[in-house]
Amino acid sequence: MVIVKARYLIPDPEKCIENGAVVINGAKIHRVGTFDEVKALSDDNTLVDLGNAVILPGFINIHTHLDLTNLHNRIAPTNNFTHWVFQLLGARIRWKEADYTASIDKGIRCSLEAGTTTVADIANTEYSFSVLKKSPLRKVVYKEVIDLNPGHAKDVVMKVQAELSVYESDGLFHRGLSPHAPYSVSKELYQAVSQLAFQTGLPLCTHIAETQDEIEFLTKGTGTFPSFLRQLRAIPPDWQPPGLTPIHYLKGTGILENRPILIHCNYITDEEISLIKSSVASVAFCPRSHRFFGHTNHPVQKLLDAGINVGLGTDSLASNDTLSILDEMKFLLLHHTIPPKDLLAMATINGAKALGMASEVGQIKEGFEADLCGIRLPDGNPGDVYDQLLDAGSTNIFTMVAGAVCYNASFP
Ligand SMILES: [Zn+2]
Repeated sequence: MVIVKARYLIPDPEKCIENGAVVINGAKIHRVGTFDEVKALSDDNTLVDLGNAVILPGFINIHTHLDLTNLHNRIAPTNNFTHWVFQLLGARIRWKEADYTASIDKGIRCSLEAGTTTVADIANTEYSFSVLKKSPLRKVVYKEVIDLNPGHAKDVVMKVQAELSVYESDGLFHRGLSPHAPYSVSKELYQAVSQLAFQTGLPLCTHIAETQDEIEFLTKGTGTFPSFLRQLRAIPPDWQPPGLTPIHYLKGTGILENRPILIHCNYITDEEISLIKSSVASVAFCPRSHRFFGHTNHPVQKLLDAGINVGLGTDSLASNDTLSILDEMKFLLLHHTIPPKDLLAMATINGAKALGMASEVGQIKEGFEADLCGIRLPDGNPGDVYDQLLDAGSTNIFTMVAGAVCYNASFP
């Protein structure tokens, strides 16, 4: 068996064990306690001592696009979303298979180095499936579905089904469906994908209420989207706006009834918050990507107060600086008043709930998957363990997924 020990162990946000240790047997957590309690469990143990660090459940990143990792610093921060998308499309217009796989590979490495053990990744190409499936990360890879022409809905869904059937789920790999967004997916396609999710049990996510322009497009059919979509030849000439705000629009597609992850929710009304609450949807909040696009006042506190499950995402490196959920927590601590324990819950247990994995990961608990990270604490911070954990100087030094050490910088 393997014992991982450190100065602190936080098995779930409400509990902290000094001189804590986790005993791992194969892929699973066998025992949790103080080192003194667990050290005699077996005489054939491998000991990993992380020293002045805190062992946490591995971070769960519930929204990212790992295939965009190599676009870091290639696209300037902007509050013009359609302009950003144009830059993005232009930046990878000549990308071939090797460019995609290198970018995804780098994204996997960065995630593991940052202490992330589970990712919810959006697959824009088949390479996301093939590369991620082989990686040691735990992952849900969501096939991105895009088509605004209602007449194409049935064919698109049949194609998606065929593409997904190539990749079998396994212990670390799960498939999902991501109808992209209301400005790129017809209502008919949303409905067809929702039905497919219902029949197959595949998890769902969709980008929603991301920009004011999206709301203008849905309610009035005006703003930046119509001309953007015409330039891409992606909007049918007879397209009519549904006259609804984003969450109301989703309500009519069946998506909300399939436990989706609603990505962003930057601009939603109190009434829409009630609609999310009455469904069993989760929200993916991407704090630093939110800042990159110049959005303000994310309703995260209102969502949390309403009892909605909110997890954290990094989004991609095309709109962020790192793929670190710890960095998202540190950013939130500076810009919101969410208590550190709640931030930790968003980074772990809430993410597990959003992905339907709350009985396997998100906590360090006997019988759970051995998905852990170890955060080295900075010297000279006299605060409590949460102060030290969210100090600018803390850093991940150890990542384990299903009992396999995926990153270890604990030995200088
Ligand atoms: Zn996204």
